[in-house]
Amino acid sequence: MTDPRAIQLVMALRKQGITDMRVLNAMERTPRDLFVEEAFGSSAYQDSALPIACGQTISQPYIVAFMTQALAVGEKMRVLEIGTGSGYQSAVLAPLCRKIYTIERHRPLLKAAEARFKALKLDNIVTKLGDGYKGWPEQAPFDRIVVTAAFPQVPESLIAQLKPGGIMIVPVGEQRPGESISQLLTKIIRTETGVKREALIPVMFVPMVPGLPREPQKADERERKI
Ligand code: SAH
Repeated sequence: MTDPRAIQLVMALRKQGITDMRVLNAMERTPRDLFVEEAFGSSAYQDSALPIACGQTISQPYIVAFMTQALAVGEKMRVLEIGTGSGYQSAVLAPLCRKIYTIERHRPLLKAAEARFKALKLDNIVTKLGDGYKGWPEQAPFDRIVVTAAFPQVPESLIAQLKPGGIMIVPVGEQRPGESISQLLTKIIRTETGVKREALIPVMFVPMVPGLPREPQKADERERKI
């Protein structure tokens, strides 16, 4: 049964201008309480970002809804997501398209997200531990790309993984001292002949970090080195 708090949240999203019924339905049916840390369970349906493991955040529901709506996904589309995090954005997208390919650089976050996808039987999401700067060339080109961490500049090699006519929604900008909001959510459309960019709204995302984090060594590897 749908959590009454999810219905309240969706009513608030409608008031804020989210009009796409498919997006609103997907938001209503995605149990955000499963994607937040237990300690934040009581805030799961508030319209705010919350901390998750590895110093990252689960995005604010309004921003997830706004990005999903801006992405204009169709049910036959293949979508690349950079920054799996909790897996919430992927779970909202899953019922709206054919397949989601999602990349995360932190193994513990990816493992937890995979367990959530399994529990919710979202079997059209495939995951990869990797560096989102590189995208997923083996599966390219994509109809849509959604990035949920901020790039200082979007790599051309990632735009090249969009099909002609494809859309990318991506926060762009750097944290500058003294400025509270320095990122713009940007819509990049790949046309037959080039690229069109459109600034949407100011946002605040965690930054994209290149490469993979150093993982703690396993005990037996440590012993061998001594
Ligand atoms: N979509 C997520 C939001 C997660 S926050 C959700 O719905 O919960 C952004 C995520 O991007 C973080 O988990 C962070 O680890 C990840 N990230 C940052 N740089 C990355 C990179 N180079 N490659 C892959 N993931 C990256």
